[in-house]
Amino acid sequence: MSDQLTMQNPVNRYPDISPPKQDQPEPGLDVELIPRTDRGEDTYRGTGRLEGRKALISGSDSGIGAAVAIAFAREGADVALSYLPEEEDDAQHVCEIIRRAGRTALPLPGDLRDPAYCRDLVGQTLGGLGGLDALVNNAGRQIAVDRVDDLSEEQWRDTYETNIHAMFRVVKAAVDHLPAGSTIVNSTSVQAYSPSAHLIDYASTKAAINNFTKGLATQLAPRGIRVNAVAPGPIWTPLQVSDGQPKEALPHFGKNTPLGRAGQPTELAPAYVFLTSSESSYVLGETLNVNGGQPTP
Ligand code: NAD
Ligand code: MG
Repeated sequence: MSDQLTMQNPVNRYPDISPPKQDQPEPGLDVELIPRTDRGEDTYRGTGRLEGRKALISGSDSGIGAAVAIAFAREGADVALSYLPEEEDDAQHVCEIIRRAGRTALPLPGDLRDPAYCRDLVGQTLGGLGGLDALVNNAGRQIAVDRVDDLSEEQWRDTYETNIHAMFRVVKAAVDHLPAGSTIVNSTSVQAYSPSAHLIDYASTKAAINNFTKGLATQLAPRGIRVNAVAPGPIWTPLQVSDGQPKEALPHFGKNTPLGRAGQPTELAPAYVFLTSSESSYVLGETLNVNGGQPTP
């Protein structure tokens, strides 16, 4: 199989999938997704770009976060993984790949809606990895609801707690421990600019993340800490089948992009590697769009 550095036609680097209608309780599991995703297990080739770095990545059991964790380990980083306790099987699979790369994997399950867990997560990372210099706030929750009348208080609050409040809390717990040269990368979304009618809670958190990223980048620049974001388009992950999309939308997922197909999680990893590596030393407050060609502001 070709690695990510081999010249390939982006149109057919991955097949144009038509996922069957399927349902998983929230949070979905990668092990049960049809078709399976590519998180770079067999393809991502490291080139020493994150040698010796100590990373904490939320939502790194599956999907984009798993692909980022695998890439970071192959680039030379030790990785602490945050995920929900129900996702242990997915997380252990990723830990195994990290260890096979000769790096430390530190599994830290918990619920990011709990402020105490946000703080403990940072403390345990510092203890377990002996420091922290690469934070990736990637966890997210997306539940489609067609009508605002049916969007509950509880869902609105859970989406905001998971997607943006936890990001603030983890950053706040971490910032005093981040040495100059550290990086923060936040997962936002194309939804930040082009909200779907059925995702108003989710999309508005993603707009907040974009803005938070730029403001925080400005604030932390003098301390030598760079903050950036990655905005994925339609990527085939468990988020989509645990009510992230209406069921009837699944077979068409990603087909309306200029490339005509959904993205695979491993296609996101190089963006996170770039923004974490010192090669992007003059890039701050940027949102790197990885969305199959959809125009963005
Ligand atoms: P995913 O389901 O694989 O990852 C999301 C992860 O978030 C879960 O694995 C889970 O560990 C974590 N999470 C959710 N609620 C949590 C909670 N309360 N406590 C702790 N962890 C929690 O899906 P993904 O698509 O890889 O999502 C990763 C990020 O990418 C999310 O922020 C998502 O919004 C963003 N994103 C995804 C897409 C896409 O099309 N898949 C598009 C744009 C943005
Ligand atoms: Mg998961």
